[in-house]
Formats: sequence, structure tokens, C-alpha cells
Amino acid sequence: MGRKLAAGNWKMNGLNASLKEAQALAEMFPAPKVDILLCPPATLVASMAAALAHTKIDVGGQDCHMKTSGAHTGDISAEMLADAGADYVILGHSERRADHGETDAVVCEKTMAAVMAGLKPVVCVGETLAQREAGETLEIIRHQLSASLPDAVDLSKLVVAYEPVWAIGTGKIPTLEQIAEVHDDIRATLTARYGDTANDVPLLYGGSVKPGNAAEIFATSNVDGALVGGASLKAADFAGIITAL
Ligand code: PGA
Repeated sequence: MGRKLAAGNWKMNGLNASLKEAQALAEMFPAPKVDILLCPPATLVASMAAALAHTKIDVGGQDCHMKTSGAHTGDISAEMLADAGADYVILGHSERRADHGETDAVVCEKTMAAVMAGLKPVVCVGETLAQREAGETLEIIRHQLSASLPDAVDLSKLVVAYEPVWAIGTGKIPTLEQIAEVHDDIRATLTARYGDTANDVPLLYGGSVKPGNAAEIFATSNVDGALVGGASLKAADFAGIITAL
């Protein structure tokens, strides 16, 4: 079993006023039994990190550039996220893969950049509905893992999130058997490549996790937590998921 982690991905949601949700969450969990992470949009990383500095909640970015600095208009480096107070960064989310054409090779470079900057990368993988219906899920996930993760990575920093593309923001989730099949396969793929230390890497499930379905998902084989989009925006909803972990 990996370390337990409840991660919130605010995506392109949240203005300064929404920092009160993060503060409310911190007040609800002064001594949490699991790791808690909030990944706000880049504009809020520094202010959220400052607001949560003396709490048990970590802050992360939602993407970083593969280079440390330079002529990359509009981009943010891993070093800059760390400098702003981030502890983690989500990489290879399917929305970035789709909206920005991020390939596994790009995700791999970003993962290395994140680790170099002292951030913990949350590397996302997941199949599309067409790939699931074609029976290609495990093959796709294995390939994404193989190409998105570097050969040398500090496993104590790594987090992997399985997010079926068709389950994100749709209210649809795979069956618990399907989640277990993929998570067991991810664990086996990681231990085959990196050795037994990969047993400690948190494997998060993501895609339409809500307070009402969190407990059964967390009871599933090799699920160590969740990457939560919509239900992480309000402290009360996210709290319901965290307490289920
Ligand atoms: P969702 O998003 O919880 O809103 O489905 C999850 C994610 O994309 O990380």
C-alpha cells in the first residue's frame, strides 16, 4: 500500500475569494490522518501556500514547464512553483494532453524537472472510452507509464493517478472491479520496473469521485487515495472524501 493522499485539482476554477475554502478545509483537518493536497490555478499557488503555511495541507501546481527558465512566454517552471510554496505538481493530466498536445515524452521531461526542483509529481494516466471499449486499457496504461516516467525517479516523491478520461467530470465511474484491475496492474508495472520500493508509491483514482462513492473506491485494491476535480472546490465536499480515506 502506498501512502494515503487526497488531492484536489481545482483546474481553471478559483479566484482569491475561494482561498476561504482552503482555509476552511485546513480548520476541519488540523491533524489529518492522510496527506491532503490542493492544486489551485497558478495565480493562487503563492497566496494559497502562504495561507496554508502553518497547516497540514500541501499545495501544488497543475502543470510546469520542462525547462527551469528562459524564453517560454506564458509558462511556469517547476522551480517557480517551488519558489511560490508548492510541494507537488500534477503532470500529464488528460486535459493537458488533449488541450496542449502533451505527449508521454513531454510528461517525462516535466516529471524530471519537477523532481529536480524538489516537487512531488502527480503523474496522470488513463484511457479514453474508445480505448476501453476496444479492450486496450491495460496496454495503454502500461505504455503511458513506461513513457511518462523517467528510469531514475525518487520513488518517495512520486505519485501516480489513474484517471479514465471518460470518467472525468462526467459522473460516470468504472466498476470497482475495473478500478482494481487497473490499479493492480499499475502497481505490478511499477514494481517490475523500479523494485519493491514502488509498493509505497501512492496510486490515486480520479474521475467523478464524490463523498458518496469515495469509501467504496478507497476500499478497492491498490487505491491509496483520489485526485478530485469538481468535488474538491468546496471544503465541505472535499472533507467528505478525505474522511472516507
Ligand atoms: P472530476 O475531475 O473529479 O471533476 O471528475 C477529476 C480530475 O480531472 O482530476
